[in-house]
Amino acid sequence: MKITNVTLTAMALFTPYLFAEKGHKGHDHSDHSEESHDHAKEIAGPNKGRILTSTEPHAEFFVTPERKVKITFVDEDGKALPINGQTVSAIGGDRAAPTRMVFKKDGNSLVSDKALPEGKLVPIIIQIKPAPDSDNVTEKFNVDFSECPTCKHLEYACTCGH
Ligand SMILES: [Zn+2]
Repeated sequence: MKITNVTLTAMALFTPYLFAEKGHKGHDHSDHSEESHDHAKEIAGPNKGRILTSTEPHAEFFVTPERKVKITFVDEDGKALPINGQTVSAIGGDRAAPTRMVFKKDGNSLVSDKALPEGKLVPIIIQIKPAPDSDNVTEKFNVDFSECPTCKHLEYACTCGH
């Protein structure tokens, strides 16, 4: 009887440990999927632009050689999705003299009517409506046109996270 009691006590002591161990394994697993998610984020979009993950579906932000902003909605693999009621508007440059941009459909993308203002670091506020009945998602960042020394992308689209 005494041995059984000890065994039970030991079991009772070990049970939370086992749970903790299980929980820990679960945590490891989620860490792993987070890693894969990070990896997925590193996959550049169809134009090798910056992937904005705040919208669903995600949107690729890309600046054309004419400095026009091109937004392309992408699937999990970074492949372009057709434009289907999504709308985008943006304001770029200095607050004192901002450039207001309206976006028009061009193939699978929405492209701004105006170019981004001059400069190597241009602030931008983009409002994205990922579906006709969803709320606007606002993205604010500086479009950094300097070249990343490591991954050969421009900084705004840097995938190496240096
Ligand atoms: Zn880089």
